[in-house]
Amino acid sequence: MTRRTVVRYPDPRLREESERVEEFGPELAAFVDDLLDTLRPTGGIGLSAPQVGDRRAVFVMDLSEDHSEPQVFINPKILSRERDAWVEESCLSIPGVEGKVIRATRLRVRAQDEDGEFFEEDLEDMYAVCVQHEVDHLEGRLFIDRLPFVKRLRAQRQALRSSREVAVGSIQEGDAIDSPTDSSRS
Ligand code: ZN
Repeated sequence: MTRRTVVRYPDPRLREESERVEEFGPELAAFVDDLLDTLRPTGGIGLSAPQVGDRRAVFVMDLSEDHSEPQVFINPKILSRERDAWVEESCLSIPGVEGKVIRATRLRVRAQDEDGEFFEEDLEDMYAVCVQHEVDHLEGRLFIDRLPFVKRLRAQRQALRSSREVAVGSIQEGDAIDSPTDSSRS
């Protein structure tokens, strides 16, 4: 089990479409553990494979305070979406940027678990929002792409500024993402 480095905007790996997982086994299970280990100390609620530079269609989610409800989604597909609402989001790959986007607050998702078993689940509210955020990651899309135009430009500028600050070392890894907020950071 290893904590991986979270890839940050504007890294082009965040823009690649993920590839379907065909191989289930110990290596995949170890990778899923790495994703959970990487997510836990961040205070975030979800983390996708592209955010650690891996192209597999995998994400993990845990909305509990004590990290007791880890969920794994492999090759996820959202089957239906309902009840759109404006939701405040942020992203571990875009530290320091928040914004409101429209998301369904109820959905049905189909995915596979670590053993390759298919499951379907109905999810609501933050669970549903998190799944949409992570599925976006697997398709190379970021929440800032969904912001209204002017806010999107502002968010992109802010994100680039933060990434430059990171590059010159004025922000320590983890600093910007450890402060707790109510938003869905994933
Ligand atoms: Zn994200």
